[in-house]
Amino acid sequence: MRLKDILAHKGGATITVPAKASVAEAIRTMAEKRVGAVLITDAGDCPVGIFTERDVLRLYAGGDRDFEHITVESRMTCSVVVGNPETSVDEALALMTERRFRHLPVLHDGELLGIVSIGDLVKARLEETTAEAQSLRQYILS
Ligand code: AMP
Repeated sequence: MRLKDILAHKGGATITVPAKASVAEAIRTMAEKRVGAVLITDAGDCPVGIFTERDVLRLYAGGDRDFEHITVESRMTCSVVVGNPETSVDEALALMTERRFRHLPVLHDGELLGIVSIGDLVKARLEETTAEAQSLRQYILS
């Protein structure tokens, strides 16, 4: 299974915020949309940064708490690691485990197609494994 299959199933809606938005706005957007990450995109819709609930945790723990007056661009992760539609679920899981993050934007020829979370990938892997086990059981019993 590949990232394009996951996006076909869950849809390609990506939650973004402007670079000049405050951290508080980013937090409100994540809460309202029930997501753990927002992308910051440029005028061409290309991701220039990512900001996640883990970043909020770090800011708060570090005493950096004036969320209404801190811009998201000053605290986002700028070097965004991305996948492409042909990236396999296993490759994406390995990448996320190795690099210790849980969100992967998917781009094709510079076009943002969507974002997959580690939860989406684990769910897809589990469904695949369950289906494989079921067909093996049927094969053995037939
Ligand atoms: P997460 O586990 O996704 O909440 O993110 C953990 C840390 O990695 C945070 O500092 C994020 O800003 C950063 N991060 C999340 N996803 C990515 C990504 N695809 N590329 C680069 N950094 C990321």
